[in-house]
Amino acid sequence: MDKSWITTKKPGDPEYDVGVVEYIKFAVTNSEGRDVIPCPCHICHNLSYQKVDVILVHLSKWEFDRTYTCWYRHGESRVGTSSMGEKMDNSNVYGEYEGNNLEDMIDEIEERVENDPDVTIEDLISDSEKP
Ligand SMILES: [Zn+2]
Repeated sequence: MDKSWITTKKPGDPEYDVGVVEYIKFAVTNSEGRDVIPCPCHICHNLSYQKVDVILVHLSKWEFDRTYTCWYRHGESRVGTSSMGEKMDNSNVYGEYEGNNLEDMIDEIEERVENDPDVTIEDLISDSEKP
């Protein structure tokens, strides 16, 4: 996966948008149906867990955390470590958060991204705001 956009592109660059969508796809695929995932924006630094629509808004306003080029918080295995162990560690990180519609929303976003490779962050955000 090409992640050079993380260090070279800024919000608003088409390549950044494409990269963010790639990231969302990756994170959602590895979210195992959870409602919130760590937000990798420059402000949240993966310390704050957010819904996907919030993350999209953050990443359209603020830069992706430039140090976060190996997405181990979102299921990517770190070099030299087993991804199994990482996954186990993640299992209780998500806390007691209870969401209702987010799973549907993630499904929708996933579907949208799959059907339309040119989808932009703005499209995803405005879609998720629809009732
Ligand atoms: Zn954030």
